[in-house]
Amino acid sequence: MAAGLRDGGFQGDILLAGAEPGAPYERPHLSKGFLWGTVPTERLGLRPREQYRELGVELMLGERIAELDLDRRNIGLGNGTRIAWDLLCVATGSSARRLDGFDDAIYLRELPDARRLLAELERGQQINVVGAGFIGCEVAAAGRRRSCGVTMFEALAQPLQRVLGPELGAYLAEVHRERGVDLRTQTTPPLNLITPVVVGVGSSPRTGLAAEAGIAVDGGILVDELGRTSAANVFAAGDVTKFWSPLYEERVRVEHFQTAQRQGFATGRAMAGAGSPFAEAPWFWSDQYDMNLQYAGAGLINDHHTVARARHLIEARAVVTVQQLADPGFDLRRALR
Ligand SMILES: Cc1cc2nc3c(=O)[nH]c(=O)nc-3n(C[C@H](O)[C@H](O)[C@H](O)COP(=O)(O)OP(=O)(O)OC[C@H]3O[C@@H](n4cnc5c(N)ncnc54)[C@H](O)[C@@H]3O)c2cc1C
Repeated sequence: MAAGLRDGGFQGDILLAGAEPGAPYERPHLSKGFLWGTVPTERLGLRPREQYRELGVELMLGERIAELDLDRRNIGLGNGTRIAWDLLCVATGSSARRLDGFDDAIYLRELPDARRLLAELERGQQINVVGAGFIGCEVAAAGRRRSCGVTMFEALAQPLQRVLGPELGAYLAEVHRERGVDLRTQTTPPLNLITPVVVGVGSSPRTGLAAEAGIAVDGGILVDELGRTSAANVFAAGDVTKFWSPLYEERVRVEHFQTAQRQGFATGRAMAGAGSPFAEAPWFWSDQYDMNLQYAGAGLINDHHTVARARHLIEARAVVTVQQLADPGFDLRRALR
């Protein structure tokens, strides 16, 4: 968002305030390279520190914002300090959904959670994973990579069934079982599981701050295609939003890294008065074992070029039949012409 502001020509001061103590980092590594040991802490950063200086962005880290005062146009910190603003962007992200009876489990969302999990995996013992969504599956794969015994519990019939559907879900189940995961589906985990237990059962938008300030919220902060909330001069971006998508002609909430970045950038440009409607198709990836899954819009295809073409197809609203998609000889570029 801050980069988008500068890209759009904004000349004023930019303050990026966040509750976490370190500079912004790439959360997707926390369930992948960080656990495998290939992406150490110093390589997690979203940007090198000097880029914030170059962009003229002041970082205020380790500070939780306690209140947004829309009438007086300031934000309040926990210690009573107030900071004035002319334009405000709320990008408070999501928090991991908690499961009753699993208070001491690891909920993987922030770096300290990942550090705690890594220490457990390094012991190479048994881990229990509740929820076979993206995070659960990635943690299971990381556990096997570190020779831990892994049991994974899933309420539905297949892992990632809601996203991938039953056929691809069944394929993924097979992949995990072949790699030694004890995958138990259509079941709820017992409450007395031995630790460590990792719970990955989805996340919820952190809308509290915005809602308390009177900003319209309905399963996410409601914003339009330029990132504008219901309050004057207040924008919102990333996981926390439910944004109007001109592509889908409805409000969507997306919890994907690329959308958070791209919609955030677009919102920054809009705040600078140089915005254009954000109409990109969501895109997501997951790494499990030697597999790289990519997901664009509502489909799943497996190579970079195909995924890029599929996104262009969706964005161009091109009409493609099921038969064409099922035909390995069909060239997606033809549908774009
Ligand atoms: C383990 C894990 C793996 C993932 N893997 C993938 C993946 O493979 N592919 C993919 O596309 N996506 C992945 N994601 C999702 C992706 O990381 C998110 O979509 C992205 O981080 C959203 O960015 P955001 O800036 O909107 O929110 P967040 O990254 O959640 O950042 C919000 C920030 O706001 C801060 N904050 C909240 N409230 C306050 C407050 N009151 N005061 C101050 N600061 C506050 C939070 O501390 C946090 O630092 C993964 C997520 C996780 C947790």
